[in-house]
Amino acid sequence: MSVIIDVFPARSDNYGYLVHDTATGRTAAIDAPEAGAIKAALAARGWDLTDIFITHHHIDHVEAIPALKAEFGARVVGPRAEADKIADLDVLVGGGDTVTLGETVFDIYDTPGHTLGHIVFHDALNRHLFSADALFSLGVGRMFEGTPGPMWDCVKLMRGFPDDTLVYCGHEYTASNAKFALSVDPDNAALQKRAAEVDALRAAGKPTIPFALGEDKAANPFMRADDAGIARHFGLEGAAPGEVFAAIRKAKDNF
Ligand code: ZN
Ligand code: FE
Repeated sequence: MSVIIDVFPARSDNYGYLVHDTATGRTAAIDAPEAGAIKAALAARGWDLTDIFITHHHIDHVEAIPALKAEFGARVVGPRAEADKIADLDVLVGGGDTVTLGETVFDIYDTPGHTLGHIVFHDALNRHLFSADALFSLGVGRMFEGTPGPMWDCVKLMRGFPDDTLVYCGHEYTASNAKFALSVDPDNAALQKRAAEVDALRAAGKPTIPFALGEDKAANPFMRADDAGIARHFGLEGAAPGEVFAAIRKAKDNF
């Protein structure tokens, strides 16, 4: 029931994650950004790769699947809705399904927006959320395929998880997200605190990931689309939060 999580950089700004179920020794890579980085992390820990959990079809999350599957014979679990875009999936899942890694259970949630079939993996017992590009620290992924209303609903759903949930996202984008967040929510003390912390972490060469969901809820403008102050910043007082979310997303795209 307990897990050890290994966090390591991959490609230019992705993160790779290994989740190790201590009871059984099963080990999953969350997404497959880069075979070399994943193999090095496995070797450093002395773990054997048994599973690969895929969140969405983008190349920086799936490229290493064939190499890892060939080397380790790992079981590959991924989004049913993107099965036509991802080679080598063994188990297809979607929102409402669960997937187990030994004794550890992950609930799957559909999080359309960044891509239409994007899913996240939530370990409710250990309070870990693997959000990939659906939720970043102080941001969300670019809305390549989805629409704002459903994407806002997904952000709201993730916001509903307990405050002490640790979020493991797909990229180290926190510093640039902080600059944008401060431009739309300059007087937010929680955001100012997180931005200072992020500056210090990056200056020390440290990752800003994982992050505590509760702190991000108070600081991430995309999780605050129903906050009156954010709406006011965009001249959208009284508008539906989905509309405010769309305005935040558009402003970030042009920032
Ligand atoms: Zn992506
Ligand atoms: Fe990505």
